[in-house]
Amino acid sequence: MSPLDAVIFDVDGTLVDSERDGHRVAFNLAFEEAGLPDRWDVDTYGRLIKITGGGRRMAFWFQQNGRSPEESTELAERLHVRKTALMRELILDGRIEARPGVRELLDTLDAHGVPIHVATTGTRAWVEPLLDTVFGDRFQTVLTGTEVPALKPDPAVYLEVLALTGADPARTVAVEDSANGVNAAVAAGLRCVAAHNPYTEGDDLTRATIVTDGFTDPALVGWFAQALSDTEPGTAGN
Ligand SMILES: [Mg+2]
Repeated sequence: MSPLDAVIFDVDGTLVDSERDGHRVAFNLAFEEAGLPDRWDVDTYGRLIKITGGGRRMAFWFQQNGRSPEESTELAERLHVRKTALMRELILDGRIEARPGVRELLDTLDAHGVPIHVATTGTRAWVEPLLDTVFGDRFQTVLTGTEVPALKPDPAVYLEVLALTGADPARTVAVEDSANGVNAAVAAGLRCVAAHNPYTEGDDLTRATIVTDGFTDPALVGWFAQALSDTEPGTAGN
């Protein structure tokens, strides 16, 4: 196995369960504030997540539950503004936590002097406060959908991190939770460790180097231990 020059992390669903613990909760708070009875439990949200874009997701739901298309769209647009503000509040209040085992992996990489970066298609407006609140200032390079708008599986955001850091793709590993993410990393020439969550368990992750249940999965821990044993301390990140 080649040594590690760098590890690049996805955010949404990888470093944090931002859908389940963040966006879903913010939607429910927006419904509650507006005096609506609608609530999305974890399973319901798992089905709705396939509809991309928060506004579209709410409009679909309202229409499915008996409102007219016009009323659904109008209500969804209004609530989506509030939902976005509520999501930011949740982040700043520290209500979204790192997935179990993430901190331990970041500490291990730090101890071996391996630089860690972020490549996400989330917008900087919430990614930056989220990373600051949950992890502090520990990522060297953070690129978001604000700088690189092409959505994964387009490899653009990964290619941009590689260009900025000068990391050798053959010695760099991505960590992702979903099919789109894995495919983006692989298209950028990277190996990819998949750490799926309950929402992405059914994704086709076959292009990943290894598929694991998350950061406490012994398969993931063992994979990084092996990769790091081939990496001489202090030689990474030149
Ligand atoms: Mg993701």
